Amino acid sequence: MTDKQSTIQHFAAGQAIFSAGDCADCAYLIQSGKVAMHAPGESKPLAILPEGEIFGEMAVLDNSPRILGARAVTDCDLLLIKRSQILDRLEHADPVLRALFEVLLSRLRSQVAPSISPAAPRYSLQNTGENPVINVGLEKIRLEADLLEALEKDEIQMVFQPLVNLKTDRWAGFEALCRWEHEAIGQVSPEEFISLAEETDLIVPLGIRIFEKSCEFLHQLDQQAANHPPFFMSINVSARQLAEPDFVERIGEIVRQNGISPRRIKLEITETLMVDYQQARQLLQPLHARGFTLSLDDFGTGYSGLQHLIELDFHTIKIDQRFVSSMFENARSLTMINVVTDMAANMDIEVVAEGIENAQQKRVLQALGVDLGQGYLFSQPLEARAALARLSETEC
Ligand code: C2E
Ligand code: CA
Ligand code: CA
Repeated sequence: MTDKQSTIQHFAAGQAIFSAGDCADCAYLIQSGKVAMHAPGESKPLAILPEGEIFGEMAVLDNSPRILGARAVTDCDLLLIKRSQILDRLEHADPVLRALFEVLLSRLRSQVAPSISPAAPRYSLQNTGENPVINVGLEKIRLEADLLEALEKDEIQMVFQPLVNLKTDRWAGFEALCRWEHEAIGQVSPEEFISLAEETDLIVPLGIRIFEKSCEFLHQLDQQAANHPPFFMSINVSARQLAEPDFVERIGEIVRQNGISPRRIKLEITETLMVDYQQARQLLQPLHARGFTLSLDDFGTGYSGLQHLIELDFHTIKIDQRFVSSMFENARSLTMINVVTDMAANMDIEVVAEGIENAQQKRVLQALGVDLGQGYLFSQPLEARAALARLSETEC
């Protein structure tokens, strides 16, 4: 059967569509006519399905033989929904939804035909050892619950990585980065738990906590390193946070309470947020109005055209670390840094390079006119206490 032929199939009244035990390569949508579903060996149908119903999907979804048979009651036109059409979507679905879906499906299967498919596993959320899809989903559900608990117990820690002024070689500010030491699994990467928090609403309270802790640290710095030019604090902000109606109000209040000018807070917004330019404009406008500094993070990995950059009025561009790490192997990386620094200098935009790990990278970036550098060459992210100690011990 070719793809085209397979889209609609006609069955005459009384004709078998499939039988129990058949392999399932598609589900069906009844375009016209009626279809009877029946258990093997039974003449009386379990159900008569009218136009508009879907049938035969269960065996496709859980990749097992048909447990019921289907027969055309009248002449029928059936639209085929191919296995790949269903499974491709399922594969891209959220793991939590997939796990719940599998549980539901197995329960349904055991209810529809318990005697026909005695071997069908009956999953519960407690007993799922053998199904990897359910395991992945369950792991995520547990991690999410643990994250909520960690947030309530204030177990999400902040570390601060210095950004160095490449003209003076002195620390100019910090990027706030969060850490989660999970009791059982150890360190969970921020990429993992931040994206988990973003999928739920947890990012909103977490984001506020990050703001409070970062501003407290900046306040401490003001007091304990009073002779140093005032530091700035870069704080990562996700699209979900920006979309929260009172976000700007709340962060404005936090900086005010800590006696910090909003200019000293650089909100790092990743370039991927700029996909929808109109939306980005709307989200950024109130931040500008409140006087926050805006920094475009991971520059070069996303889609922002130069025109958009200019119009969205970013104060800082942060060149993604992959350009820095490949600048000596890949001529295009170096060209990209060169072009960006030239353009930024003409537009009075500050340029930061992140992921600087060796002195050679630093020298070239300095020569290209990059303003600020961040990376393991200067320092790992530090706990607040360690950062304050470094500042009091050495000329940073
Ligand atoms: P990012 O904003 O691009 O942060 C920079 C990452 O590069 C950090 O990883 C930092 O530790 C790492 N890094 C710094 N210097 C070097 C270096 O010299 N070499 C290399 N290879 N890496 C370096 P981290 O802390 O694991 O954070 C990863 C990502 O997680 C961050 O990427 C950011 O997108 C997200 N993230 C971390 N903390 C927060 C947060 O508080 N809020 C939000 N919304 N996102 C956060
Ligand atoms: Ca960042
Ligand atoms: Ca970055």
